[in-house]
Amino acid sequence: MITIDGSEGEGGGQVLRTALGLSLLTGKAFKIYNIRAGRKKPGLMRQHQTAVKAAIEISGASAHGDALGSQALEFTPKSVKAGNYCFSVGTAGSCILVLQAILPPLLVADKPSCLTLEGGTHNPYAPPFEFLADSFLPILARMGANVSVQLERAGFYPAGGGRLTVMIEPVKRWVVPDIMERGNIHAQKGRILLSSLPHHIGERELKTVKAKLGWNPSCLSIEGVDSRGPGNMVVLSVQSDALTETFTGCGQKGVKAERVASRTCKQLRRYISSEACVGVYLADQLLIPMAMAGGGRFTTLKVSQHFLTNAQIIKRFLEINIEIIRLKEPGPNQSEPNHSEPNLSIWEIRIGRKP
Ligand code: AMP
Repeated sequence: MITIDGSEGEGGGQVLRTALGLSLLTGKAFKIYNIRAGRKKPGLMRQHQTAVKAAIEISGASAHGDALGSQALEFTPKSVKAGNYCFSVGTAGSCILVLQAILPPLLVADKPSCLTLEGGTHNPYAPPFEFLADSFLPILARMGANVSVQLERAGFYPAGGGRLTVMIEPVKRWVVPDIMERGNIHAQKGRILLSSLPHHIGERELKTVKAKLGWNPSCLSIEGVDSRGPGNMVVLSVQSDALTETFTGCGQKGVKAERVASRTCKQLRRYISSEACVGVYLADQLLIPMAMAGGGRFTTLKVSQHFLTNAQIIKRFLEINIEIIRLKEPGPNQSEPNHSEPNLSIWEIRIGRKP
C-alpha cells in the first residue's frame, strides 16, 4: 500500500487524480491523507469525488473515505474495464479534470471506451476544452494514443451544465516524443467565447488582444457558445512546427474584460519570448503519458509546483526517472521595447525508465 501525504508540494487535487490514475494503471493500492490540504476548502470537492467514483466504476475498485469533504481516502483498485460511461460532476467543477484521473488506465484497456462527462468545461484553474482538444490530445496522438473529444455544450462557473464526449482508443504502441525545438510559428488564433453576455465584452477583449499582440484581424473572432449560464473565455493559440500551445483567460464578474484579455496576452507573450516548446500547464500534464510511454523529452519555460508534485507522485507508482535540466539562465530582468517580457530561463525535461 502506497501512502501519500496530500499536503506534499502543491497540495491540490492533482495529487489525488494522479494517484487514482496510476493506481488503476499499476494495480497498486494507496491511501492518501491531508487531501487538498493546500487549498482554501480542503478535502474532496464534487470534482474530486466524481473522479473517485469514476475510478471505482471503471474498475470495481473499493474505496473508503470518498464522502464530500473527506480528507483521507483508501483506494484498492481492480482491473479496469473499457466501456461506455457517463460521469457527472453535478456542479461547475471541471469534468476535464475527471478525465485527467481516468484517462491513463483507459488508454491501456483492452477495448475502446466512450465517455460522457458533465460539469465545467471552461474553468479558470483547469484545462479548458480548447486546451485539451488543440494542445494536449494532439501530442497524445503523436505518442500513439488516439483520443477524440467533442464539446456538446460549454459549462462555465457558476451554472456548469457542460457536456463533452470522449472516445478513447487503446494504445497499440507508444511512441516516445521528443519536443525540443519549437521551429517556426505558422499560425496564431484568438477566439473570444461568449455565452449570454453582452457583445461589447467580446469586442473589448478582441480590441485588447489586437492592441497587445498586433495580430491580424483575420485570425481573431468572437464566437457565441451554447451554455446553461453566462460565460466568457479568451482563448489564444500559437501553432508551431513542434506543437500548438493554448493560453486561456476566464471572464470573471468584477474583473474588467480588458484585464482578462491582457492577462491572457501576457501568458502568450511570455511563451513566445522564450524559446521553450511546452508551456507551464502542458508540462505537468505531459508527465503521466510520457511516463506511460517509458520516456520522452521536452523543453519548457517554467518548472511549476504542480510539475514537481506530479513528478513526485508518479515516481511513487512507476519506476521512472524525471530529470530537470536548466538549459538557459534567465537574462537581465529588463523590458524589451516591444515585448515587455524578461528573458526567461529554459528547462529540459527528460523522462526515462529506471535502468
Ligand atoms: P489542481 O490545481 O491540483 O487541481 O490541478 C490543476 C490542473 O489543471 C493541472 O494539471 C494544471 O496543469 C491544469 N490547469 C490549470 N490551469 C490551466 C490552464 N489555464 N490551461 C491548461 N491547464 C490548466
